[in-house]
Amino acid sequence: MDIVTSKPQIVLNKPEAPLYRVLIVDDSNIELENMMNGLSDNFSVSIASDANEALRIAHQSPQPDLILLDIVMPEIDGYSLCSTLKNDYDTQNIPIIFVTSSNDTSSIIRGFEVGGVDYMTKPLKLPELNIRIQTHIQLKNKSKQLESLAYLDPLTRTANRRKYNETFQYEWSRCIRYKQPIAIIIVDIDFFKQFNEHYGHAEGDNCLTQVAQLLNGQCKRSTDLFARIGGEEFIMLMPNCDLTDAVTKAEEMQTGINQAKIRHDGIGHGHFLTVSLGVAATVPQYEHEAISLFQKADDALFNAKGNGRNRITVDRSGVISDSSMHSLTQH
Ligand code: GH3
Ligand code: MG
Ligand code: MG
Repeated sequence: MDIVTSKPQIVLNKPEAPLYRVLIVDDSNIELENMMNGLSDNFSVSIASDANEALRIAHQSPQPDLILLDIVMPEIDGYSLCSTLKNDYDTQNIPIIFVTSSNDTSSIIRGFEVGGVDYMTKPLKLPELNIRIQTHIQLKNKSKQLESLAYLDPLTRTANRRKYNETFQYEWSRCIRYKQPIAIIIVDIDFFKQFNEHYGHAEGDNCLTQVAQLLNGQCKRSTDLFARIGGEEFIMLMPNCDLTDAVTKAEEMQTGINQAKIRHDGIGHGHFLTVSLGVAATVPQYEHEAISLFQKADDALFNAKGNGRNRITVDRSGVISDSSMHSLTQH
């Protein structure tokens, strides 16, 4: 394998796999063309000759898997563009390799300080550029896999509390910025202790998984998040959703569980498993108030339990009202 020729001979992607997408940002047409020629066998290449065009492409779906970034460009330079991309939740995980003629140590250090993963100086050795790109994309994919494991509840294969907490913080801030409502529904299985006692812990685990999958299936919008936040306690987070729509969603969730008719002989022969739900929504204004929404939904849930379970209780700005329509047991 000759890797010294100007055009790389190595085939980096598996033949059947879609090519990784690389965005090249450079204000010189000659440089753009040179890099395009050197990379297009191995990658799906797009180009931008200034920062604004690069920002637009970086936000497009599918996003670039990696960005090659020149430093000296008119108006917005590579360092500023890199900082902007790294401070944006939607683009911060795209690895950026600086590709530039500036080879002094302080320029290189600054490139890493603003968030670059690598730094290459011109004139470029294209085979080396290819293999560096490949390596950084693989590293990014690995860390993405690890991250998704860190956010997963291993039993139910739904999101865990950590994922909920982080997503909630992000969505809460976003809803403040755009003056949108945000809603949560806390769901708790009724008499689950008795379920375990009657059927055994392993069967309890299966039941938790079934319930989680059923409820997760009600998560319809891409910004909604369903998560397991405790033993037999779950949450649905709905950004840009008001109380009325949240109550409708809670009713769908309750109906879904009731229609599944999961046997719960632990509370009496012929009974079925039910859930209690607490609903709260607000148009958030302050960061520090985030916790109070959870508290309101939790208080509503507490009331649902106290009022007989298998019901939805809604927090209406501090006034808690019962919106239940189902009886406790169904046959
Ligand atoms: P309530 O209607 O008031 O919610 O009563 P409950 O019995 O559902 O609630 P309680 O908080 O008294 O008990 C929760 C039970 O959930 C106790 C615990 O054994 C069970 N549990 C928690 N995590 C798991 C789990 O991962 N697997 C299984 N099988 N059971 C679990
Ligand atoms: Mg319970
Ligand atoms: Mg509980």
